[in-house]
Amino acid sequence: MVNYKKFFPITLLSAFLIVGCSNSLQESGNNKKEHQQTESRDIVEETKSVEVLPSFLNDKPKEMKNLYASVAKNRELLENIPCYCGCGKSSGHKNNYDCFVYKNHKDGAIVWDDHATKCGVCLEIAATSIQDYKAGKSIKEIRKKIDEAYKNGYAEPTPTPNL
Ligand SMILES: [Zn+2]
Repeated sequence: MVNYKKFFPITLLSAFLIVGCSNSLQESGNNKKEHQQTESRDIVEETKSVEVLPSFLNDKPKEMKNLYASVAKNRELLENIPCYCGCGKSSGHKNNYDCFVYKNHKDGAIVWDDHATKCGVCLEIAATSIQDYKAGKSIKEIRKKIDEAYKNGYAEPTPTPNL
């Protein structure tokens, strides 16, 4: 029996956002190459630590804020999980962590990326991975599950090195 309660927030979020994701894919396909970086749809914002969420999340649902906070605390996991939304091509992402966090500074400051706020696939992959990680699955097992789940009907995965 499926535990609907557990999956409800994720499903809700992605139902909301799946449109935004395919839009950005389309957009990048039509854009000339030289415009891709400068006209990038993705906003980045720095805060002084993972405890301080960026202001672009202010008007976003609580589930999304929680997910951003969890992603920042599960860097090792998500740097090993590919994203299948097409962001490898459109935004040069290397893994699912890149959809949420642009950069980590040595002093603990963090530069957030709003890419995932517009993308149901990014959110869903991160949420599922973190959920499984908390349930005790290994990063390798999670990676396998994600690759399996998204191999058909989704964009090319990010070039995330194999474990
Ligand atoms: Zn992505």
